[in-house]
Amino acid sequence: MSRDLGPSCRKCRRESVKLMLKGVRCESAKCPMEKPSRNAPPGGQRTFRRRQSSEYGKRLRETQKVKRYYGLFDKQFRRSFHKAQRSRTNTGEALLELLERRLDNVICKLGFAPSRKAARIMIGHNHFTVNGRRVNKPGYMIRVGEAIGVRSRDPSQKLVRGFAEMDENRPVQPWLKVDPKTLTGTIVALPVRDDVQIPVEEQLVVEFCSR
Ligand code: SF4
Repeated sequence: MSRDLGPSCRKCRRESVKLMLKGVRCESAKCPMEKPSRNAPPGGQRTFRRRQSSEYGKRLRETQKVKRYYGLFDKQFRRSFHKAQRSRTNTGEALLELLERRLDNVICKLGFAPSRKAARIMIGHNHFTVNGRRVNKPGYMIRVGEAIGVRSRDPSQKLVRGFAEMDENRPVQPWLKVDPKTLTGTIVALPVRDDVQIPVEEQLVVEFCSR
């Protein structure tokens, strides 16, 4: 399994938006995006006099933003895009829905992991179950009615409970339901466009991927 070892905060600075890639740190004052002196795009002085982006540049940046937010490589992203193209609804919205339904994203939103990156590692280490069966694929597509649980062994329970307690005051999105006592999350509906938490113009992504 390939891993993205690049610096996370640099990605936020490049896209000029908080992509929330580092969990707790992203909500603290340590986040570089909170400091005007440090939230400029990477590349030093050269980028302070940036030219206006071309149409191609705008579409590319929008696509990169989505890929980086969900932590996907090009091949995985293209696979989701082709799946979205085959859906009967708007391609952009179908793409975002598919990405929201990824197991790593759902686990992060339930508060069982501090970030999508951490969720991917935890899934790979077999800490989670879906409908009682162990799942170790971060890209597993969650369906309505499925229940995400934590394996009953001690290390899994301790690890996830720690993260869940840290996040217990964070509101859970309306398409998800969480029971912090039993560490169980249920998918009660499909995610809608408003559930996507970063500002994104999905039409630009569709235009970029349809070239
Ligand atoms: Fe870094 Fe998180 Fe802030 Fe992004 S949101 S710059 S990953 S601390």
